Amino acid sequence: MSRIVYVNGAYLPEEEAKISVFDRGFLFADGVYEVSSVLAGKLIDNAAHMARLERSLGELKMAPPLPLDEIPPIQREIVERNGLDQGTVYLQVTRGAADRDFPFPKGVTSSLVIFSQERNLLEDPAAAHGISVVTLPDIRWQRRDIKTVQLLAPALAKQAALDAGAKDAWLVEDGHITEGSSNNAYIVTLDGTIVTRALSNAILHGITRRAVLALAEREGLKVEERSFTPEEAYEAGEAFITSASTFVYPVVKIDGRILGNGVPGPVATKLRQLYIEMALAEA
Ligand code: PMP
Repeated sequence: MSRIVYVNGAYLPEEEAKISVFDRGFLFADGVYEVSSVLAGKLIDNAAHMARLERSLGELKMAPPLPLDEIPPIQREIVERNGLDQGTVYLQVTRGAADRDFPFPKGVTSSLVIFSQERNLLEDPAAAHGISVVTLPDIRWQRRDIKTVQLLAPALAKQAALDAGAKDAWLVEDGHITEGSSNNAYIVTLDGTIVTRALSNAILHGITRRAVLALAEREGLKVEERSFTPEEAYEAGEAFITSASTFVYPVVKIDGRILGNGVPGPVATKLRQLYIEMALAEA
């Protein structure tokens, strides 16, 4: 059975789901997106994703394709129509289709596309064994707080990491880690402090980051929101990443240096477990 995709008001089999070649998402990467995870057929922390979507649209002066409170029912319909139990729902808004020109077109309606991807989020070998990352220069633009679809730099970084035998890249700017190619990055110092870069335009304000830091504080763990260098990361007791589609993945190797004893650390393991418990309770 073919997947059902939402495109501008219609629910279509994926083969029939089409967008104009003049769509500004295609021509200019003039669009924003959100990825919400689904557990037990329910969207996780979706209100926070919708709030970030509203902010991304506002920062780009892009009109919502329809009132924003009408989007979650469409996401739920996509989950329902595709019988999705576990996976993600991707949603993308672009500035719509107009003859190719740089300024914003007038009188054009934004496009909205929503589709689901099935994936086993709970039983995930990367989470069980931990992942390795390599550091690479952060060549992205300066508004990484806006979740735009211009993902060429992260795609290049992810591929370079795979080519180097790692699972992901941690991006470095001015000698400090900003974040992962599609996730937020954390280390845990030898005295047990969780360190992650503070919010700014240099990183995406992760929805999972916010939830995980709240859980860490609830557990009485010490959290420092500050920049850290690759060298500090090599000496850390453990490390991890967070995102909606990975929850928490332990990082066991950075640039070929093994952290601790090379297995997922207790802090990352605990935070993953707490996050999943909270998400399942919400589902
Ligand atoms: N940083 C970047 C660059 C990302 O692409 C993502 C995931 N889209 C994240 C962080 C994590 O954000 P979230 O927890 O909202 O998925």
